[in-house]
Parts: sequence; structure tokens; C-alpha cells
Amino acid sequence: MDADLGHDTVRRFLVDGQPVRGHWVRLGGAWRELRANVEYPPPVRALLGEAVAASVLLAATLKFRGRLTLQIQGSGAVKLLVAQCTHEFGVRAVAHYDESLTAAIGGEVCVGEAFRALAGEGGRFTVTIEADERNLRYQGIVPVAGHSLAQSLEEYFNASEQLPTRVQLAADAEGCVGLLVQKLPQAAEHAGADALWRSVEVGMSRLSPQALLRESVESQVGTLLPEYDVRLFRGAPVSFECRCGEGRVTSLLRALGADEVREILAEEGAVTVTCEFCRRPYRFDAEAVEALFTDSGASDVSPLIH
Ligand SMILES: [Zn+2]
Repeated sequence: MDADLGHDTVRRFLVDGQPVRGHWVRLGGAWRELRANVEYPPPVRALLGEAVAASVLLAATLKFRGRLTLQIQGSGAVKLLVAQCTHEFGVRAVAHYDESLTAAIGGEVCVGEAFRALAGEGGRFTVTIEADERNLRYQGIVPVAGHSLAQSLEEYFNASEQLPTRVQLAADAEGCVGLLVQKLPQAAEHAGADALWRSVEVGMSRLSPQALLRESVESQVGTLLPEYDVRLFRGAPVSFECRCGEGRVTSLLRALGADEVREILAEEGAVTVTCEFCRRPYRFDAEAVEALFTDSGASDVSPLIH
């Protein structure tokens, strides 16, 4: 079933001869893998899924080699949400939230009231790109706006790229989906571009979260642009990819030093380091701790975990 709907794929589309382009993404297995070690309340999970889909759409749209980070600093139930996507579409994400505030929100659709309860008033939506080459860093910040994350993303493109952009996002426990359409600068020179853009706006507003989650990309694009020839390109795979790993945790513990690590072991019975992103626990029992400090590689320390 995953394969039929094109899960874990990002695809690009164009309207033949018209200054409009789009990107579409759906995650299934990668989205479930990303949350394998953490159980989020449904509304937080929905916002996290939308942010993951949004980070892939941003990475697909903006040209860079490196890592893109989408961050929401909120004043509602979600205090901080971070979704990262590499130029090769490796994603990871985490949300910090106030449990006492999420219970009242309920549901999986985070638009309107629910979105405001999650993100709060006066929140910030930040996009950071760390490019591999020459340590280039770019950052754009807009206020968390309107009644959905999709609308905040539209505001972001409007402010940073001056490109009219329409976005739809949806997520549930099984998948997360994003659809983004942009009107390109040369639209002013095209006869009929305004009519096409109006059609996009109407089509986007008609796409329900259910249609986004359950229908194929062909059907969604057909709903969006029923009277145009749309060229849908082959997709690129999207995967869950965290930067944590046994090696990094081993280096971290060696950098802490034998005394401190043995002290934790004595107090807790084992040493557990949990990745701050994917929450994967790395557990070291007494034997594993001793191996850390008797290995020949013990002098090769690096304090970096991320
Ligand atoms: Zn991790």
C-alpha cells in the first residue's frame, strides 16, 4: 500500500508552458521510524508531521548542499519544534511541549484554534540553511502567522523569496504530506498566468487533509489543475536519518572521562545516553563501560555528539 501512494518520496511538477511549479512530498515508513522512540500526543504529532513535510518542501525548493532546519519557537503547548532535512532528503525532528496544555487540544488537525493553541501567540518560524561549502549560513525568520503552519510557510516564501506560494500540509500517525505551488517571477509576461494562478488558489483550498493523506499525487494535482497539462517528474527518496550513533556516544562518554562515567554507573546501574533528536537510548552496562576505557581507541576522543 505504501508503494501505491508513493510514500517516502518527494516529487516536482510543472505546468506545460506556464510559469508555475510545485513540489509534493509524502512520508510513511520514514515518518514512523522518526518517532520510533517517542510517543507524541496526537495534536503535537500532527504539527510535527506537518513540519517534517514542510522541511522537505523547503529543501526541495531552495538550492543548497547541506542541512536545512525549520524551527518553531512557540508560546502555546509546543515550546520548541525542530525539523531538519538534508539536501539528500534525510529527515529528523523533535518537539518539546507542555503535556498539561496538549490534552485540551485533541484531534489531529492543527488548523485554526488548534494551531493557535499549539503554537501560541507571537511565536517565531525560523528557517536556517547550513551549507556544506565554505560554512555558509543563511537564516530567515517570520512570525508564526495565521491559522496553520502552511500559512506560516506561505508567509515565509512571500517575505524571503517574494514568490506567491500556496501550501497544504497534513499528518496523522501513518503519514505526513505536503503540497507546495509557486508562481514564478516571469508570470507577469505570460498571458493566462493570472487565470492559472486563480485556479491553483481555488484548487488548493479544495484539497482536504483527508484527500492529501489518502489520495495519490496524480489525483491531487488533477484536482488542483484540472484544465492544464501538468508534467509530474520522477521522485527522489526521503528517509529518516539521525546523526546519532554508537560511535558518537562512545566518543562522548570517553570525553567525559572514566571517573565520571564509573560514578554514573555506580549510581544508576547502567549509563544511558539518549539522543536529543530521535530519543534513541544508548545503554552501557558495567561491562560495556569498562570496555570503553580499556579499548585501544580510548585516547581518540571527540566531544562532539551532533
Ligand atoms: Zn538520534
